Amino acid sequence: MIELLFLLLPVAAAYGYIMGKNNANNEAQQQNQEIINEYSKGLKFLLDREEDQGLEHLIGLLEISANSVEHYLTLATLFRRRGELDRAIKVHELLLKHDGLSLEQKKHVLYELAQDYMMAGLLDRAEENLVYLHSLKDSNALCQLMLLYLQSHDWDKGIALFQSHESDFNTSQLKKTIANFYCEKAIQDKDLKALDVVTELTQDLVRPKYMLGEKAFDDGDFLQAIKYWGSLLDKNVAFAPIFLDRLEVSYEKLNLQDNYFSHLSKHLKSDSVLIKIHYCKSLMAQDKVNEARNYITQVLRKQPNIRGFSYLLMLMSEQSQDIKTVLTEINNLVQDYIATKSLYQCNHCGFTSKKMYWFCPSCKHVESLVPLSGVDGF
Ligand SMILES: [Zn+2]
Repeated sequence: MIELLFLLLPVAAAYGYIMGKNNANNEAQQQNQEIINEYSKGLKFLLDREEDQGLEHLIGLLEISANSVEHYLTLATLFRRRGELDRAIKVHELLLKHDGLSLEQKKHVLYELAQDYMMAGLLDRAEENLVYLHSLKDSNALCQLMLLYLQSHDWDKGIALFQSHESDFNTSQLKKTIANFYCEKAIQDKDLKALDVVTELTQDLVRPKYMLGEKAFDDGDFLQAIKYWGSLLDKNVAFAPIFLDRLEVSYEKLNLQDNYFSHLSKHLKSDSVLIKIHYCKSLMAQDKVNEARNYITQVLRKQPNIRGFSYLLMLMSEQSQDIKTVLTEINNLVQDYIATKSLYQCNHCGFTSKKMYWFCPSCKHVESLVPLSGVDGF
């Protein structure tokens, strides 16, 4: 509670200034003396740990100076960060009762209060505030509202909001969010038909096409699988590790290995080591053993990578029967090392995981978890 007192020092200073300025005016002087008394009373309550009464007293002083609203907002944010949500809510709710707030200040307080409610699990109240703010064209309210529907798995409400306010979903992150709501709804309904509506919402969108490719693959429709995953490979090569093995199988099932080889060839300049490994596998399938080995060796010189190294060991063990056992044992150790590593990393907050998430469990960004790159990555 000590930090509260520090936060309110500027308020006290402001009142002192007002009092000095109005020294000649007895009426103003008397009024200011009352403020100082009320302020002291508020501080005393706080020091005596009667915090509710202390806050009410201090917030009552806002009637005199609306300039102190920012101090109370800072105070409430401090409470929220410490997990003292009941106090944060109390400050925000008291602020809202204050008549002197400008519209912008009121919107700010409502937005902050919605965040308190969300953290406290009071989702209905948070939704009410955010829907109201969205109706006032508050630019942050829509993102927060979608976050709320994500938290409550209320995909239908999110989709209904998109259908009624499509033009408001005007950022890449909002478009990805609503596309992923459609994906969740499709899983829930076990029906992926609606996904075609959103596949092209934004250029860098991944999940709807990934899911449609997966469905086609599971149904044995390999041509469709190639269509969806092939398009993903062209537009978002970083996600290749989540489907590349099955894309290769799809081409094989249709006896289109040459097409796969030329498709991979278009992406050899990307950073993906996995694509280069697949390219080597295609060379091996064409009995170009030495070419494959030379290629992966050159790649590793320029771009050291543990998975590429493991693949090279495997190639060497296949070609060197006399030391095959030794090389295989080394490769097993490398594989054990790889197994300890995370596979995905959020490019927004840095969260790492062995499991793929479409909504980052840490920062809630959408499609921000990407297969890991670098020495230990793909
Ligand atoms: Zn994150």
